[in-house]
Amino acid sequence: MTKTIIEPFKIKSVEPINFSTREYREQVLREAYYNLFLLKADDVLIDLLTDSGTAAMSSKQWAALMDGDESYAGSRSFFKFEKVVKELTGLKNVIPTHQGRAAEKILFTVVGGPGKIIPNNTHFDTTRANVEFSGSTAVDLPISAALETDKYADFKGNIDLNKLEDLIKRVGADKIPLCILTVTNNSVGGQPVSMKNIRETRALLNKYNIPLFLDACRFAENAFFIKLREPGYENKSVKEIAQEMFSCTDGCTMSAKKDGLVNIGGFLALNNSAIAEKARSLLIMTEGFPTYGGLAGRDLEAMTQGLVEVLDEDYLKYRIRSIEYFGNKLLKEGVPVLVPIGGHAVFLDAKRFLPHVPSHAYPGQAIAVEMYLEGGIRSVEIGSVMFGKEVDGQFNAAQLELVRLAVPRRVYTQSHIDYAAEIIIEVYKRRAKIPGYRITYEPPYLRHFTAHFEPMAMEETHSI
Ligand SMILES: *Cc1c(COP(=O)(O)O)cnc(C)c1O
Repeated sequence: MTKTIIEPFKIKSVEPINFSTREYREQVLREAYYNLFLLKADDVLIDLLTDSGTAAMSSKQWAALMDGDESYAGSRSFFKFEKVVKELTGLKNVIPTHQGRAAEKILFTVVGGPGKIIPNNTHFDTTRANVEFSGSTAVDLPISAALETDKYADFKGNIDLNKLEDLIKRVGADKIPLCILTVTNNSVGGQPVSMKNIRETRALLNKYNIPLFLDACRFAENAFFIKLREPGYENKSVKEIAQEMFSCTDGCTMSAKKDGLVNIGGFLALNNSAIAEKARSLLIMTEGFPTYGGLAGRDLEAMTQGLVEVLDEDYLKYRIRSIEYFGNKLLKEGVPVLVPIGGHAVFLDAKRFLPHVPSHAYPGQAIAVEMYLEGGIRSVEIGSVMFGKEVDGQFNAAQLELVRLAVPRRVYTQSHIDYAAEIIIEVYKRRAKIPGYRITYEPPYLRHFTAHFEPMAMEETHSI
């Protein structure tokens, strides 16, 4: 058996990337106030900011675009899409949206509202924002192992069932319109949820008559992890496993910008026809007619084909193995990485990477900046820049200080990954000389997107 896993595709169309000098990167980074979101993408060599909407489409997807039916109502492309989603999920009502958060917005406008509680293994930030915007409270119930970045566990994405039952008993089942499982659990490191946990969540919710929804963005990656790690699933196809996951639920929201392998698209699917009716009315107001939901017919075609291709097991093997390869290269050189390696990204543990930089000097931001300067790699801080808060002059740090290196689907080859690992290892070697950062400007909400930063002097980093 050969050990090398090759990319399961040939390249038919290429997009050049721009090489730059360190001096040039220093200049544009200063002009972007040391915020990587404010860089021009053309000034980035390897862009690991997100895996969302950044996938390369296949030749079959590009061909499907031509077949898009752009009829306003009753488009042929919708019925093809609906058939594939129903076959995958078994859910009765399929409502296309332009991306995941549009599905969330519509769902929580219908089922949310003041006084309601929405539990989740961990809410993704747009999910939390939509829950809270409706007036409801978003509650995260990850298992405690999820916070230990150096401990291996097969299914760190699981929801804590004891905490879920305690919550239901405390607030009352009538306050909980639904419970969500996010697969894979993005916010704790792209970690999978086991079928056992999905089944037990379902059984618990049945006792209290509460519906279960999946935030299904990375359903195929989750299903593949189940096949690799959960006893009894090794001989099932990933499609069968995905179908079994969905069969435990009453509905799902989906960002097809992830496991739909498209640059734009999403959907809401659910069994409850009364809720679906209300959702379609809202859809017409903000997204479009229910047979296109904010998308062109051609986008529906590409998404339909993407949902089929993502279940190809050669693709998934390459996908999961190549992220693991990236993470293992770093681990071998002692770089502190969250383990096990997640499905869509490698997460650096910034607290262990830069122990001399305290949370209020933003160690994750410091590493992200250095990786850009060293080799033009763009990543994202997921720590106190994103989640930290100043409350009455008191700094509240995020629980974890992480830097996420998210890998776009089918975009980069092994040598791109080798290069990225080399750059990160270089940065790690000179970690003792990396200063902390301070924020010089921040907006009132979602500050990570537009905040301005400034490096501290080394003496200052050591003395705060
Ligand atoms: C990306 C994402 C969303 C939101 O989807 P968009 O298409 O970006 O609106 C929701 N949940 C999870 C887990 C995600 O990763």
